[in-house]
Amino acid sequence: MKILLLGSGGREHALAWKMAQSTYCEQLFIAPGNAGTAQYGQNLDIAVSDFEKIKAFCIENAISLVVPGSEEPLVKGIYDYFQQDAALQHIPVMGPSALGAQLEGSKAFAKQFMLRHNIPTAAYREFSEENYEEGVAYLRAHSLPIVLKADGLAAGKGVVILNDHEEAVAEFSQMIKEAKFGDASRKVVVEQFLTGIELSVFVLTDGHSYKILPTAKDYKRIGEGDTGLNTGGMGAVSPVPFAGKAFMDLVEERIIRPTVAGLEKEQIAYNGFIFFGLINVDGDPFVIEYNCRMGDPETEVVMPRLQNDLLELFKAVQEGQLSAQTIYEDARVATTVMLVAKGYPEAYEKGKVISNIPAPTQDQLVFQAGTKAVGEDILTNGGRVLTITSLAADLGIALTHSRQTAEIIDFEGKYYRRDIGFEFV
Ligand code: AMP
Repeated sequence: MKILLLGSGGREHALAWKMAQSTYCEQLFIAPGNAGTAQYGQNLDIAVSDFEKIKAFCIENAISLVVPGSEEPLVKGIYDYFQQDAALQHIPVMGPSALGAQLEGSKAFAKQFMLRHNIPTAAYREFSEENYEEGVAYLRAHSLPIVLKADGLAAGKGVVILNDHEEAVAEFSQMIKEAKFGDASRKVVVEQFLTGIELSVFVLTDGHSYKILPTAKDYKRIGEGDTGLNTGGMGAVSPVPFAGKAFMDLVEERIIRPTVAGLEKEQIAYNGFIFFGLINVDGDPFVIEYNCRMGDPETEVVMPRLQNDLLELFKAVQEGQLSAQTIYEDARVATTVMLVAKGYPEAYEKGKVISNIPAPTQDQLVFQAGTKAVGEDILTNGGRVLTITSLAADLGIALTHSRQTAEIIDFEGKYYRRDIGFEFV
């Protein structure tokens, strides 16, 4: 297969690393990629949503599979773009149709879907300009805290949790009346607050059957002890220590099976990953959100633990033969710790030279995110710079190994969380 992978994060470095090991991988291209992905294929100067350039490249280079890493091209309809073009129809896209991607692209769509299929999630109401006054009254009578969610994609910033009624009304007004998140917040979902511990569950589906991949837990806040601003993710562990068999059986029965069956029943084309953002409330799983792609940095712990040939799984998805596959997980645990640029997730500098990146070993891999190769140097080129994944029989050993390497790799303004995963040791 000649593969075109879309994206430039640590997730895409991990996917490139994994696909490059496959016997089916003839050639790998990454658009736009980073200094890490360049070790496994050829980076292209093409943006993930430039469908016309992607089309031209796929035709010229006889690409046999397109793998979108992030939600952006999926929500913008890359699957449908390929399906509807006679010159592209023969090239499969690993991901859902634009309608399927609405599970991530619209909180209201996801909530309605869950309601239709009886999938446990927080109680909610939907508001927009039309029922704005009703929304204000609803907020004032709502128990605290109040969860407000912009309906559309808002770069991970569209969820606000407030502990004061008037602050909630002010935020609600900014979202709807002043379009705080642009069109994404013209519609707002107001949700019941759930108390519990969060985890991520990933499945791969061919639209009919599904396979559950290793679980992971990510760490979103910038500060140790889960404090401070939200980020794209500061680290992860896999598997999730509290997601034992009994809990995962509930997740499968109440959430995964009805989700895949619901997509099939509604004839929503979906070939790819479903990411279930879940919360464990006293042993009962609820869906906090769906994503239509893998998580970042969860991919950086899930892929190293997945022992299957990823392209063989992708091939089975395209052929509708996924049910015949068995997933094999490495018995070791994995952890990853993200090194970020000073200032992130607010303004940060780029262009700092990164030194001392170790070569990959059996039990440690460095996945690059915001990096760029310039001559012999690798420079920082984003807020999240790189992530250090360690595998070990014991979580404490893996965590310590990542932390030791985090000390050694260097660039000006380096910051990372030292507490990732240690609550489980
Ligand atoms: P989302 O973008 O929907 O994943 O929301 C971002 C974060 O907000 C989640 O990871 C949770 O930590 C938190 N959150 C979202 N919805 C709820 C809820 N109903 N109850 C408690 N926390 C929530």
